[in-house]
Amino acid sequence: MEWYWWVLIVFWMGGFGWAADTGRTALRTRHERRLERLEAAKRERLALEAANRPPEPVCGCTHHLAKHDKQGKCHERVEIPVAWDESKHPVRYESGQCNCQQYVGPQPLSQVFAEELTDLA
Ligand SMILES: [Zn+2]
Ligand SMILES: [Zn+2]
Repeated sequence: MEWYWWVLIVFWMGGFGWAADTGRTALRTRHERRLERLEAAKRERLALEAANRPPEPVCGCTHHLAKHDKQGKCHERVEIPVAWDESKHPVRYESGQCNCQQYVGPQPLSQVFAEELTDLA
């Protein structure tokens, strides 16, 4: 066998290795991109779900609105500190009623009754 065959074979092997490497890299990049796309889609779906979900009807006192009566008084039982140590840490609690009045502030615009527009002319 002539010596240049070896050179050709070495070149061919090297070239083959390079091509395989490039192919692998391309495959990996495509796979990573696919994963990224999936991640993005998932994030988008979660954001959409969060946007469509109605807000939790939880009062400012952290109790569910269902615990409040029509007047807004909260009926949830809470632990009320009745004794404190010298460093103002409550040491004894008594069961009591949450004294939340459920002030919700001015009515949201959607609940305001809009009078029908009358034609003044
Ligand atoms: Zn409340
Ligand atoms: Zn409450």
